[in-house]
Amino acid sequence: MKSLWKEAEAVKYQDNPINMRVYTSRLIGQDPDLVLHGGGNTSVKVKETNIFGETEDLIYVKGSGWDLATIEAPGFAPVKLKVLQQAAELEALTDTQMVKLQRSAMTDPGAPNPSVEAILHAIIPFTYVDHTHADAVVTVSNTPDGEAKIREIYGDHIMIVPYVMPGFILAKTIYEMARNLDWSTIDAMILMNHGVFTFHDDARESYERMIRIVDQAESYLQKHATVAAPSNPFQEEPEELLTLATIRGMVSRQKGSPVICRWNSDPENVSFSALPDVRSIATRGPLTPDHVIRTKRIPMILDGPPEADVEAYRQDYQSYFDRNNPGELTMLDPAPRWIIWPDHGTLTIGKNFAEAKIIDDITAHTIKAIRQAEAMEGWQALPEKDIFEVEYWELEQAKLRKGGTAPEFQGKIALVTGAASGIGKACTEMLAEKGAVVAALDIDERVKDLFSRKEILGIPCDVSDKNQLEVAVHETIRRFGGLDIVISNAGIFPDSATLGEMKPENWEKSLAVNLTSHQQLLTICHPYLQNGIDPAVIIVGSKNVPAPGPGAGAYSVAKAGLTQMARLAALEWGKDNIRINVLHPNAVYDTAIWTDEVLEKRAAHYGLSVEAYKTNNLLKIEVSSKDVAALACSMAGPAFAKTTGAQIPVDGGNDRVI
Ligand code: ZN
Repeated sequence: MKSLWKEAEAVKYQDNPINMRVYTSRLIGQDPDLVLHGGGNTSVKVKETNIFGETEDLIYVKGSGWDLATIEAPGFAPVKLKVLQQAAELEALTDTQMVKLQRSAMTDPGAPNPSVEAILHAIIPFTYVDHTHADAVVTVSNTPDGEAKIREIYGDHIMIVPYVMPGFILAKTIYEMARNLDWSTIDAMILMNHGVFTFHDDARESYERMIRIVDQAESYLQKHATVAAPSNPFQEEPEELLTLATIRGMVSRQKGSPVICRWNSDPENVSFSALPDVRSIATRGPLTPDHVIRTKRIPMILDGPPEADVEAYRQDYQSYFDRNNPGELTMLDPAPRWIIWPDHGTLTIGKNFAEAKIIDDITAHTIKAIRQAEAMEGWQALPEKDIFEVEYWELEQAKLRKGGTAPEFQGKIALVTGAASGIGKACTEMLAEKGAVVAALDIDERVKDLFSRKEILGIPCDVSDKNQLEVAVHETIRRFGGLDIVISNAGIFPDSATLGEMKPENWEKSLAVNLTSHQQLLTICHPYLQNGIDPAVIIVGSKNVPAPGPGAGAYSVAKAGLTQMARLAALEWGKDNIRINVLHPNAVYDTAIWTDEVLEKRAAHYGLSVEAYKTNNLLKIEVSSKDVAALACSMAGPAFAKTTGAQIPVDGGNDRVI
């Protein structure tokens, strides 16, 4: 591990100690081997003059909800140092009391809650205090004779703190241990199964001590814990994608809400999942106790039929809860957050795409640590009661609850065709805004980079090519884990021609894109939708179905066939709880079909100006792509949960349709 300190960069922060604190905190946050996703915390002690002109000793502590990688000065909470130091002298302090006390001692009520380790930071008598959950140090300590190894690496220049619950108990323990300690004789504190504290009056020295401490543990592991390089890249079989969607559906039902399920088949994960003793080593516990909030204590191991495994996991979780519940707690959902799929890698489960990625990162670090520890005397995590205490810790629970109400389509997986423009683009964006992840298919290659959100996967695809459709659907399942919503929208509007003048190729092409491609898409999606959560298909039809326009035969006939297909699908798939509804838009002119040329031709056909043509409906209003997307989203949501086989116009009112 190398110091990331850059003098040229550091001088920009040297104007005051808090800015310097921001700088070195970010250096720590940048390295995932030091802290992961909001882990770790830092502080700085300063003197400040208050509004009465009095000088006060304050400590700025990392606020909860801030990530060290991106923290800014407002991310640190200013707390009166004396109050925190006094708190360490108390015999006991509940979490709720601690939070109250810390908040009441803050000099800025608008600042975030200080870290749960604020009291500990306060009793360390140095200006800068840095705390990480460094992988290498924790890995060494998570072995049967971890303490001896730590002593072997660092000698007497560190204080070793046995594992206790983070928060007040940890602060109190160290307060007692340090009663007769000359702090200048130690460089750091190693917290068994938890992490490292370094400290100094100089920001750079405190940070670089951390780097040196971790570097020593990394060198030790390099010498004593050689792990074989992973084998060849993994190639999945199509039927395995169906297994993935089945598991994701079951876990969603177990959790009580839809989830995203990421399949990681990187060589490291596949080779870990293929280890003969993976069932034993993967189920001993997490890398550090704080991970339990994201990952639960242990992963599910896929052993046989997924249904049996998910049920077995639930039962195990129930008994773990019953064994450890002191009496008054309410059990969290019993769904796994990661799954070992032997010979196939790992699956991580999140309420949304970002959370699944966070868990994927945590498990990657956990796997590395387990393998290194196993290359020494073996991987040994904390006993389950310690993990349970953190999992059901009221402060950690509060962190999770802070999320607020979930977006309507959180955890839902959608696929939209014709997604690069018009109605398809509007549907894609609206679904994503409402919390879904979306596979956006379009024949236009630019769809790949059209959307900036990570939750939208642009896939170039000619829907009239069955193979391309299959590849696109498979890519969707591989990326997100399943399928709940299909908006079958792709369409073309051929040149106007009466039946007598119809060019055969225009007729054929319209049928291929506007009818057959939808049937093929639905057929490919069917097995995945069967495993979906409240699965819904929305077919984008046309006003031309109930009210055909002369000269638009190729289009009208294909859309009428498409509507008939949707009615059949509603009849056939009702038993699978898949609902299929059709919306009939009309006069939506911000779409790819309606080029200026087509618009002028159609307007002329009715003897209208383009403007009059656009609002030529009973309500005299324009209908936009967004209006259609809003109806499509409603049809995918709970408002239409009990409706299938319906056809709804979205056209401003049309006398021929009514
Ligand atoms: Zn910690």
